[in-house]
Amino acid sequence: GQCILVCPTGALGEKDETERVIDYLYDPDIVTVFQFAPAIRVGFGEEFGLPAGTNVEGQIIAALRQLGADIVLDTNFAADVVIMEEGTELLGRLREGKRPTFTSCCPAWINFAEKHYPDILPYLSSTKSPQQCFGVLAKTYLPEKMGIDPSKIRVISIMPCTAKKDEAVRRMLRIGDTPEVDLVLTTREFARLLKREGVDLRSLDPSTFDNPYMSAYSGAGAIFGTTGGVMEAAVRTMYKVLNGHELEGVVIDPLRGFEPVRTATVDLGGDIGTVKLAMCHGLKGVRTIVEDVLAGRADFDFIEIMACPGGCVDGGGHLRSKKHYQLHARKRRDAIYDIDRTKPVRQSHNNPQVQRLYEEFLGEPLSERAHELLHTRYIRRKKEISQTIHDIWREITMST
Ligand code: SF4
Repeated sequence: GQCILVCPTGALGEKDETERVIDYLYDPDIVTVFQFAPAIRVGFGEEFGLPAGTNVEGQIIAALRQLGADIVLDTNFAADVVIMEEGTELLGRLREGKRPTFTSCCPAWINFAEKHYPDILPYLSSTKSPQQCFGVLAKTYLPEKMGIDPSKIRVISIMPCTAKKDEAVRRMLRIGDTPEVDLVLTTREFARLLKREGVDLRSLDPSTFDNPYMSAYSGAGAIFGTTGGVMEAAVRTMYKVLNGHELEGVVIDPLRGFEPVRTATVDLGGDIGTVKLAMCHGLKGVRTIVEDVLAGRADFDFIEIMACPGGCVDGGGHLRSKKHYQLHARKRRDAIYDIDRTKPVRQSHNNPQVQRLYEEFLGEPLSERAHELLHTRYIRRKKEISQTIHDIWREITMST
């Protein structure tokens, strides 16, 4: 008879993601490109016993180099790129009278919208998330600049949640047959990888980025990791686009805070004038806001949604202390605002590497190439499923 070996958990034959990273690192034919999200640097130290909110960006770079990473870059750079695209897209939509626009950088929110509120999808920004903008540029722009064969590149992300793993395998986020992002490790998995390879974060001297294409970031890119950050970053850039000069006092206090839903009115000047903004974090408040928009009761221009309470600084892939949960999230957020405060460049459009990317590769925001690489579409999952059932039923009835 036939003997079939069945693994009850499905784990047999499946590799732990950290093992796959090790395979890439030891393969001489592969060029590994690492990125880590804005929130990682302020949450990762806790895995090694450092106080919440310690900024370990330099130690993460050093740790990746010690592991054998070929190129260490920063998702924060891509967050600046997202602002260039999303800010421009938003201004265009406002001029066409399309309102509101929802942010699209949190994949847990995208999944929620696709499954539960497909009618809201036309209101979502088409700009890809920083993780995916990074991935696609790391496989197109970067190899062109560095003279690397793009097929040798593997992009590995270190992200604050597992939703980023789902995002990386979406079929519309591929370049031909190749995923834009090959592997995603959560904060916890990255800690496990370092411990397994004998790298102790605490004993490492901080290092710095050395890549001239995709590692520099502005304060605006850094604050993506906390609730209200995308909004504040976008306002800084849209203001400059509309008025030709920088917004004075780049910190926009009404956009900062921890209330689950916050609203603010900001004067952007130019032909747009005053805009009404809303920020929502944690999925509880999202339902209300989405239902209000669909029923025509909401009066907003731009709505930022982060599925995790607090935003990515408290993403599900981070270490979580039940007892000090709120306190730790606040410390991580404060650390993110400190990074912004101390950055010489505070606006995405003033990031010299972003300027270079547009000058030498993309042209303008929303150019044909930018559109092709940095924008995506969403699927009405509910409808897709019912449509499939409908099709099957029709086939059955027609064939009988
Ligand atoms: Fe992931 Fe949470 Fe950030 Fe959304 S808010 S991208 S689910 S960590």
